[in-house]
Amino acid sequence: MKIAVLPGDGIGTEIVAEAVKVLNALGERFELEFADVGGAAYEKHGHPLPAATLKLAQDADAVLFGAVGDWKYDKLERALRPEQAILGLRKGLGLFANFRPAILYPELAAASTLKPEVVSGLDLLIVRELTGDIYFGLPRGRRAAPDGPFAGQPEAFDTMRYSKPEIERIAHVAFLAARKRRKRVTSVDKANVLETFQFWKDVITEVHAQYRDVELEHMYVDNAAMQLVRAPKNFDVIVTGNMFGDILSDEAAMLTGSIGMLPSASLNERNQGLYEPSHGSAPDIAGKGVANPLATILSAAMLLRYSLNRAQQADRIEAAVKRVLADGLRTPDIWSEGTQMVGTKEMGDAVVAAL
Ligand code: NAD
Repeated sequence: MKIAVLPGDGIGTEIVAEAVKVLNALGERFELEFADVGGAAYEKHGHPLPAATLKLAQDADAVLFGAVGDWKYDKLERALRPEQAILGLRKGLGLFANFRPAILYPELAAASTLKPEVVSGLDLLIVRELTGDIYFGLPRGRRAAPDGPFAGQPEAFDTMRYSKPEIERIAHVAFLAARKRRKRVTSVDKANVLETFQFWKDVITEVHAQYRDVELEHMYVDNAAMQLVRAPKNFDVIVTGNMFGDILSDEAAMLTGSIGMLPSASLNERNQGLYEPSHGSAPDIAGKGVANPLATILSAAMLLRYSLNRAQQADRIEAAVKRVLADGLRTPDIWSEGTQMVGTKEMGDAVVAAL
């Protein structure tokens, strides 16, 4: 069981150190191999994703990733920016399914901007397709408009497209995930306006025939955005395309109050995966020892569940996190009156103690 550990930049090193502590406390033998990624890799090797780092990730069963990026790299050419490492890893590992759970522990209900009764106990999973859609569709570019009311004027364009196998494989992932949960899938589309998403809806419906035990509903993306803040607990698994998933998963993240609590996983067809917190490198608090390590610790739990087939160990970590929250420990991002404020390291130590 080989895990590639890529801490990255900013708070990445601090939060990954805590997750590693937790993995090492489980009493199993994991082979952990560390490598540079992002700005840290650019500084040392001149590239945000050195070939050796990619190879390590490809040879491992799973990758535990911290975060990359810093404002000081904003002026670098695009290909050398730290964030390119994530795209390179997604491509190099063939990751196509992104899992973003949004869970609101009842103890943290006050941290959400929504009323506690609307969000307390929330537990939904967004399954986002990662390889297709308007983000990668070709052709794209800038040109003189060939037609339309401003023909001849400069314009920019992108192409939205999805192939049938791309939709089929993400549909299977979503239905299988729902089977392990409350057996409900909401497929989010814009079939009323976009040909690509009418096709999406047709293919999802076709695949659903193989999963009759799972309930399927279709919802337009604008309605989904509204329902997520109106009655988020009605959702179990949401499956959607790359762009809608990008937007809705950030909206779902904020339902829970702190981005410091949310893990994520990106998987390929062999269940090899990249596990990372949903947040970035938080340069504003880096090095201060105050970052919340729980999203990364929970990402390690997902790693055990999905890539290493160690569901019991994942359950143990999740129970330990619940326990420290019930005990009233809070990093500053989730602190509220009457709870005990702790730093990154103390939070990691408390999870280890609870284990
Ligand atoms: P960010 O997620 O890093 O930070 C947003 C806000 O949330 C900040 O105020 C930060 O302090 C806070 N925050 C984030 N994680 C936290 C944690 N664990 N505990 C407590 N507070 C936390 O987003 P940003 O500021 O927009 O981006 C900063 C850098 O991170 C940029 O260079 C961006 O490109 C990069 N980024 C990387 C990833 C990634 O590595 N997957 C994702 C998003 C952004």
